[in-house]
Amino acid sequence: MKAKTSKSPQSKKPQAQTRQKAKARQVKSANKHVAKKATKSLPRKAKRVAKKAAEPRATLSKTPRYVYAFGGGRADGNAGMKNLLGGKGANLAEMAGLGLPVPPGFTISTEVCTHFYAHGRRYPTGLREAVERHLAIVEQRLGRRFGDPASPLLVSVRSGARASMPGMMDTVLNLGLNDKTVQGLIAASGNERFAYDAYRRFVQMYGDVVLDLKPQSKTEKDPFEEILERKKHSRGVTLDTELSAQDLRELVAEFKAAIRERKGVEFPEDPYQQLWGAIGAVFGSWMNERAIVYRKLNNIPEDWGTAVSVQSMVFGNMGLDSGTGVAFTRDPASGENVFYGEFLMNAQGEDVVAGIRTPLPISALAQENPRIYQELVKIRHNLERHYRDMMDIEFTIERDRLYMLQCRVGKRTGAAAIRIAVDMVQERLIKPAEALLRVEPDQLNQLLRPTFLAVEKERAVREHRLLARGLNAGPGAATGKIMFHADDAEAAAHRGEAVILVRVETSPEDIRGMAAAEGILTARGGMTSHAALVARQMGKVCVAGCDALVIDYAAGEMRVGTDLVLKQGDALSIDGTTGEVFQGSIPTEPSEVVRVLINRTLSADQAPLYQLYAQLMAWADRERHLRVRANADLPDQCANALAFGAEGVGLCRTEHMFFGEGKIGPMREMILANEVNDRRAALAKLLPLQRTDFEGLFREMAGRPVTIRTIDPPLHEFLPHDAEGQAALAQEMGIPVETVRDRVEALHEFNPMLGFRGCRLGIIYPEITEMQARAIFEAVANVIQSGVAAEPEVMIPLVGHVKELELQTRIVRQTADAVMVEKGVRFKYAVGTMIEIPRGALTADEIGRVAEFFSFGTNDLTQTTLGMSRDDAGRFLIPYVRELEIYQTDPFESLDQRGVGELIRIAVERGRGARPKLKLGICGEHGGDPESVKFCHRVGLNYVSCSPFRVPIARLAAAHAALGAAASGGEKA
Ligand code: PEP
Ligand code: MG
Repeated sequence: MKAKTSKSPQSKKPQAQTRQKAKARQVKSANKHVAKKATKSLPRKAKRVAKKAAEPRATLSKTPRYVYAFGGGRADGNAGMKNLLGGKGANLAEMAGLGLPVPPGFTISTEVCTHFYAHGRRYPTGLREAVERHLAIVEQRLGRRFGDPASPLLVSVRSGARASMPGMMDTVLNLGLNDKTVQGLIAASGNERFAYDAYRRFVQMYGDVVLDLKPQSKTEKDPFEEILERKKHSRGVTLDTELSAQDLRELVAEFKAAIRERKGVEFPEDPYQQLWGAIGAVFGSWMNERAIVYRKLNNIPEDWGTAVSVQSMVFGNMGLDSGTGVAFTRDPASGENVFYGEFLMNAQGEDVVAGIRTPLPISALAQENPRIYQELVKIRHNLERHYRDMMDIEFTIERDRLYMLQCRVGKRTGAAAIRIAVDMVQERLIKPAEALLRVEPDQLNQLLRPTFLAVEKERAVREHRLLARGLNAGPGAATGKIMFHADDAEAAAHRGEAVILVRVETSPEDIRGMAAAEGILTARGGMTSHAALVARQMGKVCVAGCDALVIDYAAGEMRVGTDLVLKQGDALSIDGTTGEVFQGSIPTEPSEVVRVLINRTLSADQAPLYQLYAQLMAWADRERHLRVRANADLPDQCANALAFGAEGVGLCRTEHMFFGEGKIGPMREMILANEVNDRRAALAKLLPLQRTDFEGLFREMAGRPVTIRTIDPPLHEFLPHDAEGQAALAQEMGIPVETVRDRVEALHEFNPMLGFRGCRLGIIYPEITEMQARAIFEAVANVIQSGVAAEPEVMIPLVGHVKELELQTRIVRQTADAVMVEKGVRFKYAVGTMIEIPRGALTADEIGRVAEFFSFGTNDLTQTTLGMSRDDAGRFLIPYVRELEIYQTDPFESLDQRGVGELIRIAVERGRGARPKLKLGICGEHGGDPESVKFCHRVGLNYVSCSPFRVPIARLAAAHAALGAAASGGEKA
């Protein structure tokens, strides 16, 4: 099969082959670039270290390696080792290798996770020794010992999968503290309150994460939070920071007592026991419910596993010369080339993300601590030059010293992805081919998303419906009903209602509700809070940190200001581009790109986002091999499709035209006719109407290929099924209502999708095909006579046997000949078929001798191959996909490559075997799904066809497919 798939028309041309090889080199070298080019921008010492890190190392023993050290200017791993070290571990190693100030530590590989789950949650032999050996290295580097009461080493234990899964898995901080070592921390910090605060946080985290005391439902409370609240109440204070060292010490004891009481176990004082407990919990969290849901939503395979990074602690809460922050090397919402982030002095990392205190913008650090700020700015530039991408970093300042705790490629909105990609080409950091790969095809959806209708928004402001402002965390406009809980949001969305999920702040438990909502609004948290990060990644509209809201979950309401109360179910609108929150619903309007291309209400030079989009699309068109057409039935749809870059119509469903003005009447007459002559009379009324429709299509498409499919759906779909409708039709046609009812009953089928439809209609009633062919060819002749080129492709649906196609083709060709003579015009046309039932695919060698083209109707081909009705499989397909993972994705959305794809391969091979120049396309919904588009490229189709708004997505996916094939050295499947 592989040899055959390389037969794409492009790969046959020697010139194209050279181009492809060059491209392969370009993309391959792009992948290596991080390791190479980066070193150019770094100080010499860093270069030496980076080189050392990248060099293969002699293996010390024959046992497999499970643990990789980093820190102190060197590392065993690097950024290219994400599969083994997870994103976090690999980037910590990379930063350490670059000589950046990374607190030393080590990473336990994802292979251990895989082993853990394959062997009943047991570790591989030798792991324990390896971990202890690496801990000893850290001890040596820092001159502190794990469990030493005088100078204790404390560590964090964090998860880190190959792909980022923000907040989905567990973390334990301050590990190594016990009643003895806390004394060492007091001595080292000179701050008893700080040490006991660290200790009580550790016991709480350990209890929640390792000993499983975390609340399981939305009504349950965290036992530690309850104890903390009681303590604050008894001390008459409201903030944690107002508790004294003595209060915190008491809390430690009370937390431990709660563990004893609820779990019947003692909190472990032994740091090694703590460490292994935490490592086990982090590996265990790979299988927690929210991680599983997140993986499904993001197509992350379960067998990737997570790595565990154990890293020496640094503290941002050691006083006013300490602090912590998160930043992006560019604005992740707009893509603008500015340093973007937030920090808090005298705080722990979780304080920034959780939104407990409102952080300051990163620019304010320039005043707060200019030296650290400059150091950070330098790191920002170095990291961008090194990774040649926008990075997301986490840092801590401990007593005036800067430490880098994390860096990874930053998540960004669709608009930011495009801006950064195009800007980086202009800055000569990357080549256009790489820029294309930096934008996920589905991200383009975000550019095509609506904003509020300006007049309606102004009216909302005039009517004082602008309630509040928060942070513009996820662009776009959304309007819907308020829901305060994730599961209520999910249920409402399931009922078809648009929802705005309103939370004080979100947590990973809310992930399903966020996915179901149109928009997300939070009262607390910054641009890097959970809500903001996850919403951007999902492409959701989000306003975060809107602190004017007072939300009362128990009452199911929120208060804005003093007298406005909004309840669950009330309408709310949020503008994620400006951060505004409005009462009531506000109609939306299309995006900038849509306004330039479709509505033509904005000129391109006034639309900077459109310009970036246009640049990216131009690059995509240069790379792709697949052509992209649109499924369009009407001239205005064709116009949209062309504006989005379609190169033809891949499917015109003619039956959609029958519902247009004046057509349903004659259509019904045709269906109700008993005699062929009556049927012909009705068809004669339809002919001019269809001809006019086709003329419209051909004129709009101006010579581009237009595939017109003969009638396909079962005829009962055109008749009224209710008594009232049938009575009205009978009256209109002057016939007894019984006649209508009898015909509806006669046409009734138990499974109409497998019934009297597709080419079967035209075979039993050849006059229908004849009328449609005549309408098409007369339209072609008229259009050509008016000076516009037209070249139709007539497509016969649901063919399973070559004789079906032969019978229909004969009618089409005879009609074409007749029209050419009658009109005195010669025109070119093609007759082909849809491949949408398995027999058609399997006998493609026979069918290919008659058909001039195949278009894969993968909606029906999926239905008929899987034996699943496309109309009502949803009932069991949801658990099939989400819970049972029988299919990784809904096979009606993304092609089942193993099953349906195999039939496509067979049909391609056999069809081209019979007719080497056979034109091949796809017109099922899969034609706009990026993964399916890539499959189409690999099997050597000539084009994909999809709905007009998905055309840009298909163009970019086709470019990705070509670049991916180039990078892997050819067209291999
Ligand atoms: C198909 O089956 O994939 C197709 C495009 O045809 P329809 O959806 O109209 O059945
Ligand atoms: Mg079909």
